Amino acid sequence: MCYAIPGKVIEIDNNICKIEYFGIIKKVRNDFYDLKIGDYVYAQGGFVIQKIPKEEAIETLKVWEEFFHKLKEIDLRVTYPSKDLYKIANRIRQEYHDNSCCVHGIIEFSNYCRNNCLYCGLRRDNKKLKRYRMELDEIVNLAFYAIKKLNFKALVFQSGEDLYYDIDKLSYIVRRVMEESPCLLILSIGEREIEIFEKLYEFGARGVLLRFETSNEKIYEKMRPGHKLEDRVNLIKELKNIGYLIMTGFLIGLPGEEEGDILNNLTLTNELGAEMFSFGPFIPHPDTPLKDFSPPPMEKVLDTIAQARILYPNSKILVTTAMQTLDKKEGLKKGLLAGANSLMINLTPKEYASLYEIYPNRDGIGEDVNKKIKEIIDLLHKLGRAPADIGL
Ligand code: SF4
Repeated sequence: MCYAIPGKVIEIDNNICKIEYFGIIKKVRNDFYDLKIGDYVYAQGGFVIQKIPKEEAIETLKVWEEFFHKLKEIDLRVTYPSKDLYKIANRIRQEYHDNSCCVHGIIEFSNYCRNNCLYCGLRRDNKKLKRYRMELDEIVNLAFYAIKKLNFKALVFQSGEDLYYDIDKLSYIVRRVMEESPCLLILSIGEREIEIFEKLYEFGARGVLLRFETSNEKIYEKMRPGHKLEDRVNLIKELKNIGYLIMTGFLIGLPGEEEGDILNNLTLTNELGAEMFSFGPFIPHPDTPLKDFSPPPMEKVLDTIAQARILYPNSKILVTTAMQTLDKKEGLKKGLLAGANSLMINLTPKEYASLYEIYPNRDGIGEDVNKKIKEIIDLLHKLGRAPADIGL
């Protein structure tokens, strides 16, 4: 099984290359390898992440070719039945992104957090939650397994804002993974010092997932006591300046959300130069101050996906696990047919995943990872999507 299609290098201009697969040409950035025309690479999020032997690439391309075209035909046939808005968004997704769908793995390595966000089950005042931290080598070995055995090409390393993982520990993780099994390595570690992010970039991390949660200043300051929206936004901008791919977004349906907030949230996501839009529904956690509020209706989340796709056709849009939790049976399918083109598979070991309880009853927790991957790949194939992410 493979989550990216090998591309052949057909043009090189400094660290920008053009790569080709099945007649499709994409631009990618090469920060890590000595490449020449004719080489084969895997690219994710617009970065070359692995150079691969020609024989291996040709073999993989042979497996893909017939299937790839078959999937494209299916994709053009399947639409969302219920609303014209979703049909339009889906058409735009096809036009700008074809049938490719990013499939990233996520490893939640610690549920400790120094913050006290009102909407989050990991908040420091939630004393009912059993806390865990994964050992450094446990994290690294899990990443190796995900990359080498499960064939993931992009991995998110996520935790609460946990200062236990200092610059040395985080550097160890990133350096070991990138030296032995390069991937598109994405950090989701909250607001940390800029020096940490600079160092991790040097070691090969290339993505950051950091949501601003709401562009409504009043709500932000209420939901995240002691924090300012401006600081969050400035950090995201600094990370972009370092060169990171930015994945950001917001919560839909936070208590107090005002008319116009969603549109403002989408605008801010775009202004921050997000490579991937990440927004999901607020789901109340019983051990937080927001326990008595309700999540938004699924339709509101789908409408937001469709609006984002229509307004910002080039963006990648994630179907978040929260959305899949809101509608366990069909959330992923509905999201993908309303204009989304990315998803994440949780690779956290079962004993920890159930404790990473940002909200309750998260979808897919406790399932065997191989079974979960199979189910998702089967669904993608039914929808005509190729689990691949090549370039810009
Ligand atoms: S949302 Fe993030 S920063 Fe806030 S409490 Fe949860 S894990 Fe911590």
